[in-house]
Amino acid sequence: MPASQNQVLYPKFYRDFSCIGPNCEHHCCQSWRITIDKKTYKIYKKSTDPVLRDITRNQMSRPRQQTDHEYRLINLKSDSSCPLQNKDGTCYIHCNHGEKLLSATCKTYPRQTKSLTGKIEPSLSLSCPEAARKILLDPSAMMFETDPEAKIESGLILSTYNNVPDHFDAFRQTAFQAVLGEEECPDERLFHLGALFSLVAKRENSGDILAACQTFFQMREDKLLNRMYAEATPNIKGQAHLLKQLMEKLQFFKHNKVLEGYHQQFVDNLKEKFGEHGSVNMEQLLADRQQHYTPLIEDCGHGLVNMMLHWLYTSDICHKTGEELLAGYAEFTLKYILIRFYLQMLAEPGHYKELLVGIVHSMSRSADHNQEYLKSLHANTVLMKLGSHAQIMSLLK
Ligand code: SF4
Repeated sequence: MPASQNQVLYPKFYRDFSCIGPNCEHHCCQSWRITIDKKTYKIYKKSTDPVLRDITRNQMSRPRQQTDHEYRLINLKSDSSCPLQNKDGTCYIHCNHGEKLLSATCKTYPRQTKSLTGKIEPSLSLSCPEAARKILLDPSAMMFETDPEAKIESGLILSTYNNVPDHFDAFRQTAFQAVLGEEECPDERLFHLGALFSLVAKRENSGDILAACQTFFQMREDKLLNRMYAEATPNIKGQAHLLKQLMEKLQFFKHNKVLEGYHQQFVDNLKEKFGEHGSVNMEQLLADRQQHYTPLIEDCGHGLVNMMLHWLYTSDICHKTGEELLAGYAEFTLKYILIRFYLQMLAEPGHYKELLVGIVHSMSRSADHNQEYLKSLHANTVLMKLGSHAQIMSLLK
C-alpha cells in the first residue's frame, strides 16, 4: 500500500457501502451499546424538545468507564431496541432534528476511520450486516486505492496514531501477505500469520522486526510453514474447552437477538446429534460436520480471509510487539474459532453466504463492543494451560 502526505487510502468495500435503512435485517438502533458523547448529552438535556429532555433523565445510564466520547448509554427497551426508534424503524432524532443532533456514534456508524502519520484510512465496522456483506462476499473487497482529492470529515476519525514505528508499513504488509497466502485454506493462513507474529514478538527494535519479516518470507519460500501446519497436532482438548465456554457464557448474547437465534439452533443441533449424558463427543462432532463445512469454505472461504485482512487493516495489531502482539492474535483467533464452530454446525447447502454474513456480523456486534469477553476467554484458556501461542495456533488444525 503506497503512502504519501495525508493520502486517503480507500478499501473497495468502503466505496461500495451505503446504509440500507428500513431493509436492514439487524438495524443498528438495536442489540448493542448505543453511546452518547458529552456534547450531545448536554444539548439533549437543554433541548426545547421534551422527548429529548426526558431521554436524558429517564432512559440513559452512566457507563462503567465514562469518557467524553462514551458519556452516557441509552437504556434499550425490553425487545433490545432503542427508545428513540420510530415504529417504522426510522430514528426520532434524525426525523425531527436532522443529522446534526445525532450523537457522534450514531452519526458515524458503521464508519471507523483512522489517522496515521501522513495518511487517513477509512473503514467500516463488521458489526453492520450490510458492511459485512460488502467486506466478506466480494473477493476484491480488500483491494486499495488512494485518492489525493478525497476529503474525510474530521468528525469521522475515531483514532489517531502520531508515533507510528518505522517498521509498521513493512510489518503490516508482511502480515497481509501471510494471510493472502497461495493455495492454503483460511485456517492455515491464520496459522502462518501466527508464525510471523511469533518471529516478530521476540524482537524489540525496528531493524530486528524487519529481519524477522525477511525470515518469514524465506520460511514460506522453503515451504517450511506448510510443513509446520501439516505436522501440527490438532488441539482437540482446547477446542472442547472453548466449546464449553461458549455454552456457559450466555450473557455474551445480551441484547443480541440475531446471535442468540443462531446460538439456540447451535445448541439444539449439538444436543440432538452429539450430546451424550450432558457432554459432547468433540472428535465425532468435528469429523461429522467437516463434510458440511468444506463446501462452505469452497463457496465463500475468501470471506474468512477478508475478515483477517480487515482486522489487520482496521485494528492496531501491527503497532504491537512482544506479549501484547501474541495476546491480540490469541483473542482474534478465539473469535475466529467461535465463528468456525457456528459455521461448522449450521452450514447447509444454498445458505452459505447468508450464514457467513449473519454469524460474522452478529458475533462482531457482541465481541467488538465487549472486548472483555475475548480477553476473559483468553485468560481462562491460559489458566487451563491450553492457551500458549503454540496451543492457540494448533486450534487451527
Ligand atoms: S446496521 Fe448498517 S445497514 Fe443496518 S441500519 Fe445500521 S448502518 Fe444501516
